[in-house]
Amino acid sequence: MDYKQLLDKAFTQLPNLSVEQSDFKIPEADSLVQGSKTLVKNIEQIASRARRDKSEIIGYLTRELAAPISMNGQVMEINAKVNSASLNEKIKKFFTTYVICKECHKPDTNITGRDRGYVTISCEACGARYTVKSY
Ligand SMILES: [Zn+2]
Repeated sequence: MDYKQLLDKAFTQLPNLSVEQSDFKIPEADSLVQGSKTLVKNIEQIASRARRDKSEIIGYLTRELAAPISMNGQVMEINAKVNSASLNEKIKKFFTTYVICKECHKPDTNITGRDRGYVTISCEACGARYTVKSY
């Protein structure tokens, strides 16, 4: 067996974790700044990818951006100018903290409890259950 074959063998023996991790793509906000507001057109899709009610994401972003947020039909309106890079950074943080399981890295989690500033996250895929600080 030559070096390349050894390398191939080593790779095939690695657990699939990294592959599964990259399968799930954290959605990006379709946003634009209009006057003093930032409009996000795909909050419904982001919420459904997260399998969370959009009020969860709105609550989180309100806190993180320190700006009032309202819905106008399907469009989320942030009462502040937020560039898309920092908005996507916040959304990414929401997913990595509250959606993607910290044990198996799959997005198949539910919030199953809230207590004194913490939320309990339960994973359907691997059965993990842990608490993280609430927003
Ligand atoms: Zn899990």
